[in-house]
Amino acid sequence: MNCKDFLIWLQDRTIHNQPEDPEILAHINTCETCSRLYTIDNYLEACIQNSFSLQKLPDGLARKINRHIDQAFYSGQQSLGQPEEPTHQDLPVKK
Ligand SMILES: [Zn+2]
Repeated sequence: MNCKDFLIWLQDRTIHNQPEDPEILAHINTCETCSRLYTIDNYLEACIQNSFSLQKLPDGLARKINRHIDQAFYSGQQSLGQPEEPTHQDLPVKK
């Protein structure tokens, strides 16, 4: 394996695709440049994963959202066949 093959592997891998391939491991252990790239890439992947980690919702927020969805759903069902004037008062507005 050379550096070019390693770069192709690095770009195509997913976070779950660990370097079990002995050729990859051998290249990382012998090439300082690719070893550094591999370390940086793992660090970036970890940062990306952390930024998408699950957050606890404030108490009652999930219930409030569900209630609003239910209300919107049922009020939409009642007006089937009769187009309703759109109301935008609850939509987020970019300022
Ligand atoms: Zn290399």
